[in-house]
Amino acid sequence: MTSSSDRSAKAPGADLIARFAAIVGADNAITDAAEQAPFLREWRDLYVGRTPLILKPATTQEVSRILALANAEGVGVVAQGGNTGLVGGQIPSESGAEIVLSLTRLKQIRGLGADGGSLTVEAGVTLAEAQAAARSAGRLFPLSLASEGSATIGGCLATNAGGVAVLSYGTARALVSGLEVVLADGSVWDGLGALKKDNTGYDLRDLFVGSEGTLGIITAATLRLYPEPVERATAFAALPGLDALLPLFQLAEAQAGASLTAFEFMSGELLGFVTRHIPGTQRPLAGEAPWYVLLEISGAAEGRATGLLEALLAHAATAGLVSDAAVAGSLTQAAALWRLRESASEAQKGEGGSIKHDVSVPVGRVPELLSKAADVVARISPGARPVPFGHFGDGNVHYNISQPPGMAREAFLAQWDEVARAVHDVVTSLGGSISAEHGIGRLKREELVRVKSAVEIDLMRRIKTALDPNGILNPGKVLSR
Ligand SMILES: Cc1cc2nc3c(=O)[nH]c(=O)nc-3n(C[C@H](O)[C@H](O)[C@H](O)COP(=O)(O)OP(=O)(O)OC[C@H]3O[C@@H](n4cnc5c(N)ncnc54)[C@H](O)[C@@H]3O)c2cc1C
Repeated sequence: MTSSSDRSAKAPGADLIARFAAIVGADNAITDAAEQAPFLREWRDLYVGRTPLILKPATTQEVSRILALANAEGVGVVAQGGNTGLVGGQIPSESGAEIVLSLTRLKQIRGLGADGGSLTVEAGVTLAEAQAAARSAGRLFPLSLASEGSATIGGCLATNAGGVAVLSYGTARALVSGLEVVLADGSVWDGLGALKKDNTGYDLRDLFVGSEGTLGIITAATLRLYPEPVERATAFAALPGLDALLPLFQLAEAQAGASLTAFEFMSGELLGFVTRHIPGTQRPLAGEAPWYVLLEISGAAEGRATGLLEALLAHAATAGLVSDAAVAGSLTQAAALWRLRESASEAQKGEGGSIKHDVSVPVGRVPELLSKAADVVARISPGARPVPFGHFGDGNVHYNISQPPGMAREAFLAQWDEVARAVHDVVTSLGGSISAEHGIGRLKREELVRVKSAVEIDLMRRIKTALDPNGILNPGKVLSR
């Protein structure tokens, strides 16, 4: 997963390293290989980078001084938050020429908006900390990911993260009203603020959301907060077959409307992986089904969500869409059901190598995607085990494939590009996207060029050149150099 373009740049010398280190102080400039190691390896072990220096600034001003120096000297800068990204965007190349900018010390909660509708936090605040700050003010910050204990607000915005609450609240993009960004030359754009409406020219904020550290460094954000639901009702339902997925979703939408806050699905085989490899988990239902769905309905009044959920499940059972279901009777039981779903990625590690896709299609075409992708996988890699799961209500499928039992992990992973191209071809034929929520990073930059039009790629390159003329920001990510 290395291309020759990742090896081209020249590493900064000792003098320049000392000038960078002086900006943050020696304690926050990491050159020791053992201390650097956790920053240079990503969660799936797909990429291991090299760097002469990791800098941990604590303020926007320090970030600004670092970028001004990097821009003047032509040094590549790779932003990193919680290092939970799944496309390699936060890992420097193997060249050893780029420095890493870890934003995790930008930790201030700058404040709650006067009307309780917004919260301004710095980029290194974790998603879980931002949620807790909202909760302590009696409000909800709805963005929710399995990685939220480590993923930072800066990383979530830089990747336009999705997660399990997109169905009712939208992706990270919909949950931010303002940004503070340090530009490639070190200048600071203060675009913080809680306006709902602002049509003063081009939308600069949306340019940086999802730009994966290639257009600017996000140092703070104003987040949109919502009322906390009074009640959440959660169920884990077994489905008799693939044909039941879409009608069950449509029924849930029709009966619960905007109160349907999650509709997550996973294959039966994947649930088996979870209960086999994740300590403390167990099957919530007797027997085995080919597909499972986790449903959540939220309500503004006590008892309403539970009533809606029970009526929906009764209706679905009568219609033959659900063969069995467990409704959580307590918060602990609801957490146990969510854990099954949220452990889906982790559980695959216990089954050897995985080839992973994060794709989306129009919701109505998800079943077609699942069956067509299974066909192409069986053709290219006989015996491989597709274990899809994801955010059905967003049309977002993590089309993951575990290696055939007994096959060498490396031999299976060597098929990654061929399998990915074939799965992506199915996705594009269904009008879908090859990256629903994880971004492009390094993993998909060649595929990006294959699926986007020349006009789109040219526009992206022109935006990149306008904002980062010296190409110092996350070189070789999203777009190749
Ligand atoms: C178990 C698990 C579950 C996950 N579930 C989901 C999910 O449901 N939905 C989803 O969307 N993602 C999911 N992810 C992916 C990941 O958590 C998200 O992409 C998250 O937003 C990354 O945040 P981070 O702080 O870890 O960023 P990093 O991994 O550190 O960085 C990600 C990218 O953002 C850039 N970046 C980081 N901080 C900044 C900054 N301050 N300014 C500019 N650029 C920056 C980096 O250069 C890199 O390109 C999951 C990951 C794991 C490990």
